[in-house]
Amino acid sequence: MSPTIDVNHAVQSQHWCPTTVTLYNMIVYRHWEARVDGTEAEAGGDGDAGNASSTSVRRIVKESYQVFSDDTIHDWCAVDQFHKAIWKDFKERGVTQDSWSWWSDGAPQHFKVGGGYHDLTTYAERFENLIVIRSFGATGHFKGDWDATAQHVKRRVNLHMVSSKFKDDPIYTPYDYFKWSKVNLSERAPTSWESRAGAVTLTQRHFLFVTVDRSNKMTATADHVQSIHQMFLSETGAPCMVRDLACFCGECAVKNYKECKNRSWVKPPVKLRFTKVGPHDPTAAALAEEDAEEDDEDATDHVPHLTDPVLADAMDAPHAPHTG
Ligand SMILES: [Zn+2]
Repeated sequence: MSPTIDVNHAVQSQHWCPTTVTLYNMIVYRHWEARVDGTEAEAGGDGDAGNASSTSVRRIVKESYQVFSDDTIHDWCAVDQFHKAIWKDFKERGVTQDSWSWWSDGAPQHFKVGGGYHDLTTYAERFENLIVIRSFGATGHFKGDWDATAQHVKRRVNLHMVSSKFKDDPIYTPYDYFKWSKVNLSERAPTSWESRAGAVTLTQRHFLFVTVDRSNKMTATADHVQSIHQMFLSETGAPCMVRDLACFCGECAVKNYKECKNRSWVKPPVKLRFTKVGPHDPTAAALAEEDAEEDDEDATDHVPHLTDPVLADAMDAPHAPHTG
């Protein structure tokens, strides 16, 4: 069985097309914040958030964000705008955002790329002095909670699309997909699997829809790209400090790198140099040219072609083939 929202073009819908939905998944761990009355707005879902009555409570809240888009390029420009939407949503919900520790795989098209690194240096200015520690894992797609939460959304939508309710509440576009998910999946579903719910501990799902605008983006060439696995962005933005190996010890967290617990093998970060910064031209021709130039300049900094199959992994197509 292969349900899609475009049943008349089953083969086409296995590839990127206008009815394909881009779904960007993020799991957030943050401190629960007590408000004046001892409750936190929208902490909900697990029902006990309101019981904590003191600001000394250091409860960790785990939430998911699912950002939907009709975008078909899935590059670093899209990621940046998805993050802008997530930051804004947190702000509107009254959540304090002093710092983000953002951890992802190292997929080169949307994460490990000069333009994306340059975007990071603008976070402080654009997001009210937000401090960012940016870490990358393996270049291939990580498997983790973000996959599980996306799988839940996909499964529920697929079930809806083959149900009798579909004709009254159809899903024909990425925006329909988003709207249905927001209405039907924002609240945690009742479960008869309490032990499973306890293990998952997800308190809330948030759904956003973003139309990606690539005008006014800056592209950049950095002196090294692929070898970086950790970046430190201060509240003043530049300089961007980077290193090849990541460490999450307490000393590194306060930038006391000399006392790093792993200093025998993790080096202190160094300044990242941008050798070329300029307006981003989003046409495919311009992208191809950049790729060729970067390949020439540094053979080890591989900038893949847009159709590199490994790239499809980090952003999900909700109606990717299902067999069964
Ligand atoms: Zn360390």
